[in-house]
Amino acid sequence: MYDVIVIGLGGMGSAAVSHLAARGSRVLGLDRFGPAHHNGSSHGGSRIIRQSYFEDPAYVPLLLRSYELFDRLAADSGREVLTVTGGVMIGRPDSLTVKGSQLSAETWDLPHEMLDALEIRRRFPTMTPVEDEIALYETKAGFVRPEATVTAHLELAGKAGAHLRYHEPVLDWTSDGNGVRVRTGAGEYRAEKLVICPGAWAPELLADLGIPFVIERQVQYWFAPTGGTGPFRPEVHPIYIWEAADGVQAYGFPASDGPEDGAKVAFFRGGQTCTPDTIDRTVHPHEVEAMRAQMLPRIPSLPAQFLRAATCMYTNTADEHFVIATHPAHERVTVACGFSGHGFKFVPVVGEILADLALTGATAHPIDLFRPERLSEVTP
Ligand SMILES: Cc1cc2nc3c(=O)[nH]c(=O)nc-3n(C[C@H](O)[C@H](O)[C@H](O)COP(=O)(O)OP(=O)(O)OC[C@H]3O[C@@H](n4cnc5c(N)ncnc54)[C@H](O)[C@@H]3O)c2cc1C
Repeated sequence: MYDVIVIGLGGMGSAAVSHLAARGSRVLGLDRFGPAHHNGSSHGGSRIIRQSYFEDPAYVPLLLRSYELFDRLAADSGREVLTVTGGVMIGRPDSLTVKGSQLSAETWDLPHEMLDALEIRRRFPTMTPVEDEIALYETKAGFVRPEATVTAHLELAGKAGAHLRYHEPVLDWTSDGNGVRVRTGAGEYRAEKLVICPGAWAPELLADLGIPFVIERQVQYWFAPTGGTGPFRPEVHPIYIWEAADGVQAYGFPASDGPEDGAKVAFFRGGQTCTPDTIDRTVHPHEVEAMRAQMLPRIPSLPAQFLRAATCMYTNTADEHFVIATHPAHERVTVACGFSGHGFKFVPVVGEILADLALTGATAHPIDLFRPERLSEVTP
């Protein structure tokens, strides 16, 4: 008998087991794959983290806490999980990327600068914005390391006594007045509370939420720039999100893993709908060409030589906001899903929130935006 079982040990679940074990709970964690695997949503070496959040100012307090917890995770684990490089959010003045970022920065009084096209070119010589593009620049933006973050959380959880079982898919779960039961191919486990962090498997494990999740295939591309990665080193190159006039957003990173690995770039949204079973893991030449065509006018030296690509999945909700809550129909069950392609930067604070909800039924963090009821097609 455990205090809490956590299903899914990817980004969110690894943080949950770590926070729960640190608070003295007897925890069991279960995953269908091994630790820090590449089959879900938490792989590819880097994820953007930033504070002037164009998606909604309501995320900002969570981001500030996330930065604190990433620093603590680095100290506790001895792993490098967060690198601050600065970040530019570029687009037309009325683009979501620029306007939304500005709204968050102004709402929360976050340090930032507005740069015109000339100033962007002067400070960041790899970038060639057109005359009517501007950018919000913030020094606090950077990237976090998905695999290292998951590994660090799992290691700390294990050290604090959590039982972690891999390659053990959960078949189903039930919850009633006496507790929760979780059935896997290997057996059945019981606990007081259940936390479910299923990533792209939400439609299977959380079907009874009645939320129409859309799983989206996404591709991360690595290119070797013309003339090498010198100008793309993290010491001199910021992360960026660049919204084109047609609303298409692409984003990228400095060369975070040395000269051989080039620099990573990707589209935000616009991928094909899939499931974890049907996703096409092959990246096709026409996709590489579309990425190259997007970046050539903007960062001309970047897409010189294609190195490699990797697919990944988003789990989208209709409004692209998360689902983090006590299950509306099961008070012993806490859910975290629907991260809609922007969840990784919140991993540590989500772990803290899940531990709060599982152990006390409430959290001091602002999570009203993430109520599942707003999305349900059926009343649970
Ligand atoms: C290409 C790409 C780029 C991204 N870029 C950014 C970014 O720059 N910044 C940012 O903040 N976010 C970004 N994101 C989003 C972020 O990575 C995700 O929101 C986050 O990783 C989701 O974590 P998760 O725990 O929900 O899912 P996962 O990490 O996939 O974890 C879910 C886990 O559940 C397990 N599981 C599922 N079903 C079962 C079962 N039946 N039994 C046992 N285990 C099960 C899976 O094996 C998996 O380990 C990006 C995502 C992608 C794909």
